[in-house]
Amino acid sequence: MNTLKCTFIALALTVGFFATAQEVEPTKPEETELYEPVPPKVVPGTNGSAPSDAIVLFDGSNLDNWISSRDSTAAKWIVNKDGSMSVNNRTGDIQTKQNFGSVQLHIEWKSPAEVQGQGQSRANSGVFLNNLYEVQVLDNNDNDTYVNGQVGSIYKQHVPLAMASVPTGEWNTYDIIYHAPVFEKGQKVKSGSLTVIQNGVLIQDHVEIKGTTPYIGWPKNPPHGKGPLRLQDHGDNSRVSYRNIWVRELD
Ligand code: MG
Repeated sequence: MNTLKCTFIALALTVGFFATAQEVEPTKPEETELYEPVPPKVVPGTNGSAPSDAIVLFDGSNLDNWISSRDSTAAKWIVNKDGSMSVNNRTGDIQTKQNFGSVQLHIEWKSPAEVQGQGQSRANSGVFLNNLYEVQVLDNNDNDTYVNGQVGSIYKQHVPLAMASVPTGEWNTYDIIYHAPVFEKGQKVKSGSLTVIQNGVLIQDHVEIKGTTPYIGWPKNPPHGKGPLRLQDHGDNSRVSYRNIWVRELD
């Protein structure tokens, strides 16, 4: 056996030994148990109400946490006696005073029981994460439209996995997990993502955000940091109501 062959065999045995040493199956339960970091305690809410560490954005009493997206004056939507608020048509979108990055968002919405309009002109609103990325809110019951613009779509980007709306006039829940995109030197280096659960049904499964969600044109990727959460006034046929809105910050 020549020297080169001997060296090669020795090397292979050495690598093999270390690889085996690293992958030795633990024989005691303690070897695979962690005791830190200890997760913080969070008291869960009941019936969709806010957990103890959430920021409540709307609890039915007032719109103090919101401003008009048009001119940053007080939000002009209607606070109802049942603890909800409704789009005040053509007063414009409203947005949170506070800026957020990645969040877990809980929001409930309903369209009016009295049906008006067709397609995108039926009760239409939207939840914009980071002020830029719309999760569509639309009364799609017996109301077809383009599927990447239907209820639960990431508008014009991702068709929902299911159509999980309750009957028109009843309350829907959206539980949304949003991870913000990452920008470096003005360029996107990591896409954001969205997960949406509607009424307990997974409808968007950690989908990649391709960029902004415009009505016309391709998604764009303007660099940004944290931004407000925004709710859409789609015009005469919004008539959508919201209630019980809270977020948990994830960054
Ligand atoms: Mg919309």
